[in-house]
Formats: sequence, structure tokens, C-alpha cells
Amino acid sequence: MSKQLILALSKGRILNETLPLLADAGITPVEDLGKSRKLLFDTNLPDVKLVIIRATDVPTYVQLGAADLGVAGKDVLLEHGAEGLYEPLDLEIARCKLMTAGMTGQLPARARRRVATKFVNVARRYYAEQGIQAEVIKLYGAMELAPIMNLADEIVDIVDTGNTLRANGMEPRELIAHISTRLVVNKASMTMKHDRIKPILARLESAIKQRQTQLAE
Ligand code: AMP
Repeated sequence: MSKQLILALSKGRILNETLPLLADAGITPVEDLGKSRKLLFDTNLPDVKLVIIRATDVPTYVQLGAADLGVAGKDVLLEHGAEGLYEPLDLEIARCKLMTAGMTGQLPARARRRVATKFVNVARRYYAEQGIQAEVIKLYGAMELAPIMNLADEIVDIVDTGNTLRANGMEPRELIAHISTRLVVNKASMTMKHDRIKPILARLESAIKQRQTQLAE
């Protein structure tokens, strides 16, 4: 096994909140990520490298050991499944909710509800648990359009302020899960590289605690 630790970070919204937390934990990329088209970066710690990838690819990289550690939203982890992964830390960033939503004031008329989402596994599980018959349709973006265009009765999506829903004449309905960003670790790496992973976990844990203390003050 390589001596280096590879930390896979989710691109986009989560990245903007992850980098300051990593900086608080004393881990900084040696070059400006925003100014580079590279995907693999050295950090100030000689044995730690960062890869910046799509959020939905992070669990796959970590599960298969291409990355030792990863930063991913709980939404992505719930959809992917947790096999081969430890989830030792809640980084307490990018908080949001996974919810069902539909057109304001309209309740699904069909006995077998049509649901559009990119979280097909989560949605199937949720509706089955509720005893609701649902036909789940996979979409890759702009879920809010599906009920407007009569493609679906309901959507399952991430809600933060609810502004996106309201702007499209929709309302949040049922809460499926509270979401925040988690640190995941490859199970084999956790054993084989424990001496190098442990200090990284400790650094992150103390950065999170420090933030909590600052918030409480
Ligand atoms: P809002 O209008 O504030 O409810 O935000 C809703 C949209 O923002 C969703 O459709 C998501 O795509 C995105 N979003 C909000 N919070 C997060 C998050 N923590 N992680 C990823 N995407 C998010």
C-alpha cells in the first residue's frame, strides 16, 4: 500500500465549506484550487494529497481504495450505500434536508405516485417504508421541473432555504433525512494506515469542536 494518504473532496458547494474546515485543521493545498484545472493536489502535509471529484464519485473512490479518505454529503452516502466505508466524523457543514416536495396545495391524486429524483434508492426505500406505492423516475437535474411538466406527482430532493421550491410554485412535504457532510474512510486503509489516518481524524475533530465552542460563545 502506498505511503501517501489520498483525500477525495466533493466538487462544488461542499468544497467551498470543506476547504476552510481543512485549513482550520491545518491542511491546505499548496496551490489555489480555483485557479487550476488540475484534479490532484499536494498539500502542506507531505504525505497528504487531495483529489477533487464529483460528489457522487467520492464514495466509489473511497470504497474501492483509490482514495483513503473522502468528504461527502450524507445524501450521497445514503444513496450509494455504506459498504466498505467507515463514517467516523460528522463535519457539520453544508447542512440541508432531504425531503419530498410537490406543487403547492396539490396532493398526489394517483394511487401509484410518480416520483422524480436523482436519489432513486433513497426514494424507493422511503416510499416502501411509508407503505406508499411509487414509481421512481431517475433524473439528473432540475427536479423542480418534473411536477410542473406533469412528469411526476412529487420529487425527492435537497432543500436548504426552500427558495428553489417556492420559486417554482412548489412546497416541501415530508422530511426524509437531515443531511450534513461526513468524513468517510476506506475500511482497509483504516487498519493498514491507522498511524497516519488517526492524526488527520484528530485534527479535524478538534477543528469541529473549536467551531462549536465559537458558535456557543
Ligand atoms: P434552496 O433553494 O436553498 O432550498 O436550495 C435547494 C437547492 O440547492 C437544491 O436543489 C440543491 O441542489 C442545492 N443544495 C442546497 N443545499 C445543499 C447541500 N448542502 N449540498 C448540496 N446541494 C445543496
